[in-house]
Parts: sequence; C-alpha cells; structure tokens
Amino acid sequence: MKLKNKIFIRQKPIKWNELGLDFWISEIECKCKAASKVEHSNFNHLIETYHEAGRIYFSLAARSRSRSCPPEEKAQIDNRLFLARTLIENSMIESISLNLDPFFDLIFKKGFFGYSTKQGVTVRFPLSTCKPTKRCGGGCYAHDGRDKHLVSIARGVFNFLAIQYFQSVNFFEIPSTKRDYFFSQIDKAIDYAKSEANAAEVNGYIRRPRIRLSHVGELAAYPEFTNWLSKHITERSDGTVDSIIYTRHPNASKLDAQSMIVNFTVESNLDIRKKYAPIGAHLVASSWGGHAYESVSVNFLEHHGRTNFQMTGAGPVCPVTVNHELTPTCDSARCSRCFSTSR
Ligand code: SF4
Repeated sequence: MKLKNKIFIRQKPIKWNELGLDFWISEIECKCKAASKVEHSNFNHLIETYHEAGRIYFSLAARSRSRSCPPEEKAQIDNRLFLARTLIENSMIESISLNLDPFFDLIFKKGFFGYSTKQGVTVRFPLSTCKPTKRCGGGCYAHDGRDKHLVSIARGVFNFLAIQYFQSVNFFEIPSTKRDYFFSQIDKAIDYAKSEANAAEVNGYIRRPRIRLSHVGELAAYPEFTNWLSKHITERSDGTVDSIIYTRHPNASKLDAQSMIVNFTVESNLDIRKKYAPIGAHLVASSWGGHAYESVSVNFLEHHGRTNFQMTGAGPVCPVTVNHELTPTCDSARCSRCFSTSR
C-alpha cells in the first residue's frame, strides 16, 4: 500500500510512498511488543516507553483529520487507526499489569472520572473495549484532538485496570483503602456534576446534573460494573444525579436502562445492532458524512475539530454537531435531548 503525502514523525516529514502505511503499523506493533515486557517505575517512564509508538499513531490520526488529506489516503489510514490505537492500549495493559504498585494512585485513587468544560463529567476507557463497525473504528472522535494523546490513552488504560480489578474480586473483599478511594471519586464526580448544573442555572438554563459513562471506549463491555456504578451514583446523590451512557456494544443488552439513560448508537435505519439496545434505551445515530435518519431520537453529524459535514436526509439533529463553533456544548445549545428520560 502506497500513500503519496507526508506525515511528520520527529518533526521530519516522512514520505508515505517511500515506506508505506504497512511499515508504520508494523513499527507500532514491534515497539508495543517490546514495551509490553517492560516494568514501569512511574508514569513518566510509561509515557517514555510508548513515546515512539504513540507518536506514529498520533501522526497517522492527525494526517487522517487534516483538511488537506485526500479522501483516498484518509480512507486508507482510517482503516488502520483502530488497530494502531489498540496495539498501544493492549501493550500498556500488559506492561502495567506486571507491577501495579507505581500506579496505585492513578488506578484507584484519582482520575477515574474526567472533568471538562466540553463534555462535563465523563469516564474514559480504552478503545480495545469497543466492538467497532467499519466506519466508527477509524472515524471515532477518539482519534481527534487531545483524545489521541498518549496521556489520554493511558488514562483509559488505568480505568480499565481499575474495573478489571473490581470485577475480579467480591466487592466486599476489596481492601477498604481501594473501595473508599473509589467511593470518594464517585462523590467528587457527583459534586462536580451538581456544580455544573448550578452554573447552567445561573446562566438561565435549568437541567438535572449528570455524569456521562464512557466518553471514549465502551464501559458497556462490563455491564455488571456499569449497572453497579450507576446505582451508586443514584444512591450517593440521593437520586439527584443521572448516569448517561452512549454505547453500541453488544453487552448493552445487559444494561439496566431503568437506573441510567442509555443512548444506543446505530449507523442506519437497518442497523442490525438495534437488537442489542435494552428495553427503555433511546436510539441515536452516528450520521457519517452528515447523513441523518428520521427514525432516531438524535443524529450526531460527523464532525472532526473544525470540520463539519453538511446534513443530508432528515431527522432530529444534535446542535453541537451542526455548528460546533457557535454551540460547543450542550448547555450553550440549551439542549438536553440526550439526557431526558422521556422524548
Ligand atoms: S443532542 Fe443535545 S444533549 Fe445531545 S449531545 Fe447534542 S447538544 Fe447535547
């Protein structure tokens, strides 16, 4: 496979037609294979170990999202982005598992929830938990902006390791330090969600506080844990904070759609994944190329950074994806379509 244009590795332009995409993917593979055997002494060491693999993946993703990237080249890169990303994630999971001790705080004490003006309170997870479609594997916004940074990738991996641990033991046998740390993270997320809702109210927009489960990756791959988490968010917030999940994972069928708002994502009216949506879930659509569907609760028009696709077809549309610069957040768009219990 030959690509004509250039990407930048170590600030030097690499001509794809000299080395080709297969070469760069096998470079990531080699580096990740070696890195998976390395025990890390701290976070910086982890990032240094994956620096080159992360840099190649980052460059590929950036090239795919570049406005100057021709469609044919973009399609070739997008076909390999999911593989490139998950090679890094799976290798990190293997290597960190060799010795969790230096990462105890990062896995159990802090960072499970992310906080951002754009997304609010969210959970980041590795893409290796996804069952991607042909379109979302490379088209996912996890390959955009800051989500493609090594530090963001590592954050998803730490969350995966936390859940893997909690799933492997009876919750009541978990040492109280780990359990209490995790509960205090839930309480902090609840407080933040409430403060966001208060800020929206100050600006004249009244809505319920909320926490988005799985902002990147699929928490739904672990439905028992996800149900447990949403139940505890409800209990610990006295029913004042909602849990929301976006998913297209087959295990979504095991989610408790009474204890959380489930937005099940399809890619067309005929998407066979519909069968995985639990009773009570809302169907939403990834509208690739901007093509919207009438039969869903909301269409998310494909957009990457400042690149928006014009809508074709008909149906309810997420205003953030129509004009991201005008309305970059749900609150700025005065929209709660995804977070309503009834539509
Ligand atoms: S449809 Fe409304 S609530 Fe859903 S993501 Fe878009 S702006 Fe937010």
